[in-house]
Amino acid sequence: MKYNRCGKSGLLLPQISLGLWHNFGSVDSFENGEDIVKAAFDEGITHFDLANNYGPVPGSAETNFGKILKKNFQGNLRDEMVITTKAGYTMWDGPYGDWGSRKYLLSSLDQSLKRMNLEYVDIFYSHRFDPETPLEETMMALDYAVRSGKALYAGISNYNAEQTKEATEILKRLGTPCLIHQVKYSMFVREPEAGLLDVLEEKGVGCIAFSPLAQGLLTDKYLKGIPENSRAFNPNGHLKTDEVSEERIQKIIQLNAIAQQRNQSLAQMALAWLLKDNRITSVLIGASSVRQLKNNIDSLQNLDFSTAELLEIENILR
Ligand code: NDP
Repeated sequence: MKYNRCGKSGLLLPQISLGLWHNFGSVDSFENGEDIVKAAFDEGITHFDLANNYGPVPGSAETNFGKILKKNFQGNLRDEMVITTKAGYTMWDGPYGDWGSRKYLLSSLDQSLKRMNLEYVDIFYSHRFDPETPLEETMMALDYAVRSGKALYAGISNYNAEQTKEATEILKRLGTPCLIHQVKYSMFVREPEAGLLDVLEEKGVGCIAFSPLAQGLLTDKYLKGIPENSRAFNPNGHLKTDEVSEERIQKIIQLNAIAQQRNQSLAQMALAWLLKDNRITSVLIGASSVRQLKNNIDSLQNLDFSTAELLEIENILR
């Protein structure tokens, strides 16, 4: 594994990080999740990403991750890991379990620490921008989380370029720099290129790309439609069947052909394509099996693209 510096900070993150959004909830096989986390760590993936609401049921991914840690990662191994959580989406009933108030963020962080049985997380994120709460309040909650020792760094996710600029300036004034932005970015989702990546570079903030495989679309899984063992087929999955459109499949088939010319799987090419940009600190993948995980890690063996390949890819994506 190679480790990249996260923006202008002291923290190094693995080029590939593992997210626990799917496959780690109370509806999933605990043993499979445990095998994936253990295999990831053995391969040098030191960074594990969670959020309060991951499951289903919400919270159960953190509970299961806490159990995996207790069984397999005792003692100083905690110091070899970067564990993150977030608050911002609906978590509990009533007015205090959603969005970006100090009340919600800080009580949610306490709940996450209890579920994972941790004293601190490495990064605590505001999971989304809240148009109704003053940004100062949300950022002050992140700053407090760091000052109280419950988080080592602060991050934001799903903020647009303008919101990011403002958030990083507030955090800087407070004395807790914004470490990282977690952004949806893949061959199929190009919005970050329209300004956000420039803001992150200018502000010295790291960038971790989530759903880099577009939830599995950028793999060889959907070449012949929707198979039963897929996120699109799974009723608990967030990939909707209408996202697997005929037009998408045609693009996937063409991209797959380029990947084959490069002696890579499509998943490997999709990850390499993101990592070629040195503004991308890490790609944050999901995996439903150890096999997928290892296949994805092998993307690191070829991160170079010829100009002709890049042009061909752009023509397909256009
Ligand atoms: P990906 O785009 O990497 O999709 C992962 C899924 O793709 C897997 O679960 C699997 O699905 C399929 N897959 C992965 N590798 C392969 C392979 N080699 N061959 C075939 N299929 C494969 O990422 P996610 O959408 O899972 O997101 C990753 C993480 O990003 C999350 O866990 C979370 O931590 C973070 N995230 C953050 C968000 C935010 O708002 N900040 C929002 C969403 C995610 P299958 O079940 O079909 O096998």
